[in-house]
Amino acid sequence: MTDTISTPETLPTVVIAGRPNVGKSTLFNRLVGRRQALVSDMPGVTRDRKEGEAHIRGRRIRIIDTAGLEEAAPETLFGRMRASSEMAVTQAHLVLFCIDARSGITPADAHFAQWLRRQNVPVLLVANKAEGRAGTEGAMEAYSLGLGTPLALSAEHGEGLSDLMGEIIDRVPKAPRVIERSRRGEEGEEEERPPGPLRLAIVGRPNAGKSTLLNCLLGEERMITGPEAGLTRDSISVDIEDEHGPIRLVDTAGMRRRARVEQHLERMSVSASIEALKMAEVVVLTIDATLGVHEQDLQLARLIEREGRACVLALNKWDAVEDRAATRQAIADRIETSMAQVRGISVVTFSALTGAGVHRLLPAVRHTHEVWNSRVTTGELNRWFEEALERHQPPLVDGRRLKLRYMTQAKSRPPTFILFGTRAELLPDSYKRYLVNGLRETFHMPGVPIRLQLRGTK
Ligand code: GDP
Ligand code: GDP
Repeated sequence: MTDTISTPETLPTVVIAGRPNVGKSTLFNRLVGRRQALVSDMPGVTRDRKEGEAHIRGRRIRIIDTAGLEEAAPETLFGRMRASSEMAVTQAHLVLFCIDARSGITPADAHFAQWLRRQNVPVLLVANKAEGRAGTEGAMEAYSLGLGTPLALSAEHGEGLSDLMGEIIDRVPKAPRVIERSRRGEEGEEEERPPGPLRLAIVGRPNAGKSTLLNCLLGEERMITGPEAGLTRDSISVDIEDEHGPIRLVDTAGMRRRARVEQHLERMSVSASIEALKMAEVVVLTIDATLGVHEQDLQLARLIEREGRACVLALNKWDAVEDRAATRQAIADRIETSMAQVRGISVVTFSALTGAGVHRLLPAVRHTHEVWNSRVTTGELNRWFEEALERHQPPLVDGRRLKLRYMTQAKSRPPTFILFGTRAELLPDSYKRYLVNGLRETFHMPGVPIRLQLRGTK
């Protein structure tokens, strides 16, 4: 079943609003990427507004950037912001109200927030430029705008974008999908699972052997399309195929060299890895096994977890490891203590140089991808949940026992569960971990991030 053709006007519409210079265009470019084909050119205040289409989790979303404001004098700024946003906001299903977490809340932000609250449109407060600690503090200040919890992100550094995308998808109407719909789940919920290639990123520290691995994979599997350098740095990919179908290797070190992109774009550093993993479903974290697990490897693992990606751990240069049993044990111990968020992660050992063992990598990737996509029915979930509660009573908080009622799985990719109960939001982290570990074991979800959200009920 395919989609009906939709015109932009029928698509769910997200409007990006805010003061000049808070990073609206940067965010727009992040969301729309290469698809900013249509730029409307209407007279008046909307003249410079940019429109484009984002494909988020398999859905087409129309994005409008209310850019085009010059820095105005502070006393006229709010009026001009309002004028430039008025039209767009009437068409919006969701407004992303951007503030600059570094410069803090200004009077124009506060006025605009007040005006937005009266517009009868859902608003998501976005605290941009929130990389680093200064940003986190600014994001906190944004609570004062009365528009709910600010979502802290960095459009420029690409941090927090997958959370934003999740929020957008949760808030816009369920309208046309880019691709086929597949119905699964008991309440007829739709899976946000786009068909097409599995998107895989190979990340790791410089010299871990990413390029060598890439070459090995390209040699071993059938290459469908060659490396393609797109308009932006973000769009380099190559498609290969295994027996289950196509796999798209996204933005991987070494690809740029192959694609003969200009030298200065070649940043085979950890930051390049960060870009890559945001575009991927599954991430292969490549580690030089002769060096053991390094702090930077753990940082990458945490990032993968934070971005909600599935992860396979690749221990490369296995040919050069002398005591394999000891190395494996040392690395396994390190993972167990330092990477508890992805407990049970698949570990594959191989030599990208000789090719020995590399054939085990893609099956592990496929398997982890399945797990990441998996769903538990509400029935199964709550049978397990009751037992879990019996085994360990929820703790007392302020002398009263928390009443946890039931759980549902809100989505997959990564598996996300909602726990309802009286004062559930007060649940201590230790009990959350107990539940998450139980979910992971009972429903066989090793190596993928599991999200548990708490909803208090009356
Ligand atoms: P707009 O006027 O709201 O569309 O803002 P722009 O997107 O043009 O961004 C204004 C400035 O902020 C530019 O110099 C951007 O490079 C910078 N910027 C955008 N996003 C971020 C971010 O996440 N962090 C930091 N530090 N700067 C950013
Ligand atoms: P990247 O920076 O992660 O892309 O790493 P490269 O693929 O460029 O590899 C870095 C170095 O490690 C090169 O000298 C490779 O020849 C070497 N190397 C890569 N894979 C292996 C392997 O499996 N075994 C051994 N012994 N050396 C490897």
